[in-house]
Amino acid sequence: MVKKQIAILGGGPAGLTAAESLSSLGHVVTVYEAMPTVARKLLLAGKSGLNITHSEDYDRFASRFGASNARLREALDGFEPSEVRAWAAGLGAETFVGSSGRVFPTAMKASPLLRAWLRRLEAQGVRILTRHRWLGFSDGGYVIATPEGTHVIQPDAALLALGGKSWPRLGSDAGWLPWLREKGIAVDDFQPANCGFDVDWSDHLRRGFSGEPVKSVTATSTAGTIPGEFVVTRHGIEGSLVYAHAAALRRSLAAGQTTTLDVDLTPGRAQDRIARELGKQDPKASLSNRLRKAAGIDGVKVALLRELAGSANLGDPHQLAGLIKALPIPVQRPRPIAEAISSAGGVIWDEIDRSYMLKALPGLFVAGEMIDWEAPTGGYLLTACFASGRAAALGIEAWLSRA
Ligand SMILES: Cc1cc2nc3c(=O)[nH]c(=O)nc-3n(C[C@H](O)[C@H](O)[C@H](O)COP(=O)(O)OP(=O)(O)OC[C@H]3O[C@@H](n4cnc5c(N)ncnc54)[C@H](O)[C@@H]3O)c2cc1C
Repeated sequence: MVKKQIAILGGGPAGLTAAESLSSLGHVVTVYEAMPTVARKLLLAGKSGLNITHSEDYDRFASRFGASNARLREALDGFEPSEVRAWAAGLGAETFVGSSGRVFPTAMKASPLLRAWLRRLEAQGVRILTRHRWLGFSDGGYVIATPEGTHVIQPDAALLALGGKSWPRLGSDAGWLPWLREKGIAVDDFQPANCGFDVDWSDHLRRGFSGEPVKSVTATSTAGTIPGEFVVTRHGIEGSLVYAHAAALRRSLAAGQTTTLDVDLTPGRAQDRIARELGKQDPKASLSNRLRKAAGIDGVKVALLRELAGSANLGDPHQLAGLIKALPIPVQRPRPIAEAISSAGGVIWDEIDRSYMLKALPGLFVAGEMIDWEAPTGGYLLTACFASGRAAALGIEAWLSRA
C-alpha cells in the first residue's frame, strides 16, 4: 500500500478517533491543533465524570439524535456504545453503568484515558502539532499558522474536526465558519444546546434559592414529559432536566412563542388527592405547613410556587393543586452559547456525502460536533463524535484507495 499523507484539523475526540483509525491502516497522519494541548473539552467533560456513552437499548440510543437519526445511524452502527466501552477498556479505562444507565469510566475523569490514548497514537506514528491553527484555504491547500510562521500544507486528504461553538475558550470557536461559507458550503449558525435558560426571578427567589436543586420532578414541553432534576440559578434554570428540554424550548422561543417549562412538583401524587388534602388543611396555617402536610413538598418547591402561582391561586385548593402538578416556569432565552454543554448548528447534512466527505470539496471530510446534529446529555455527544470520526476515517481510506 502507498502511504498517504492525511491532515486532521482539530484534536478533539472526533479528530483523535479518526487519527487512530487512519494510522492503524498505515497512513501518515498529522493532527493540527490550535490550542497548546489537545482535547480540552474532553478533559472538561471529565470534571463531571465523563459520561462516555449510554447503556440503553441500542435502537433507543440511536434514536436520540432527532432529525439526524438517519444520517448518523451508519456511523453509530460502526462504533456502538458497547464498542465504545470496549475501546475505553482497551485504554485501561474500565467503565461502569450509573443509576440512570449512563456509562462512566470508573476513574470518573478523562485524563487517564486521554493519556493512554495519546500514547497509543504516538506508538502508531501519529504526529500531533499543537499551537497549529488552520486559517483557511489557499492554493489548493490549507493555511496553517504555527509559532514559527504561516505555511500551506497539501495533504492527500484532510479531515475537519473543529468542534462546535460552546465553551470557545477551550478551542472550538467556530472561527472556520466563514471559510467554508466562502466555498459555498451551507453552515447553519451555531446555537446553544444542552443549556440553561434565563428566568426573570424576583430578588427574593434569586437571593434565597440560587443553587438549590429541585429534585424528583417531571418537566413537560413539546419534547414530552421527562423525569429528573434541575437547579435554580441566579439567572434562571439549568441542569440535566432542563438540557433534555433545551432544543424544544429554544425552538419555541425562536418562533416568538411565550414559552414555559411545566414542572410537576409531585409526580407520584394525583391532582384531586392533593386538592382534597389541601382542602382539609386549617386555612389559618402557613402556606408552607399546608403544602408540607397536604402535598409533601417544602423548601425550594414552595418558593417556586410562591414565586409563580399568584396570591389568588395560593388560597384555592383546586388551583393550587393544578399548579403543583404543572407549574409553568416562563423561560425568556437560552443562556449564552459560551456556557452551553454543546451546540446545535454546523455544516448541514446536505453538504456531506455518506462517507463524510464534503460533496463540493473532494478530499475534505468533516466529523464531530461541527456537523449539524444535536443530542441530549447522556453520553450521546461523545459517542457520536467518536463514531463520526471513525466513519470519516473509513471514508478517507475508501476515497484514497479509489483515487
Ligand atoms: C462542560 C462540558 C461537559 C461535557 N460533558 C460531556 C459528557 O459527559 N458526555 C458527552 O457525551 N459529551 C459531553 N460534552 C460534549 C463533548 O465534550 C463534545 O461534544 C465533544 O468534545 C465534541 O468533540 P469534537 O471532537 O467534535 O470537538 P471538540 O472537542 O470541540 O474539539 C475540536 C478541536 O478543534 C480545535 N480547533 C478549533 N478550531 C481550530 C483551528 N482553526 N485549527 C486547529 N484546531 C482547531 C479545538 O481547539 C479543539 O481541540 C461536554 C461538553 C462540555 C462543554
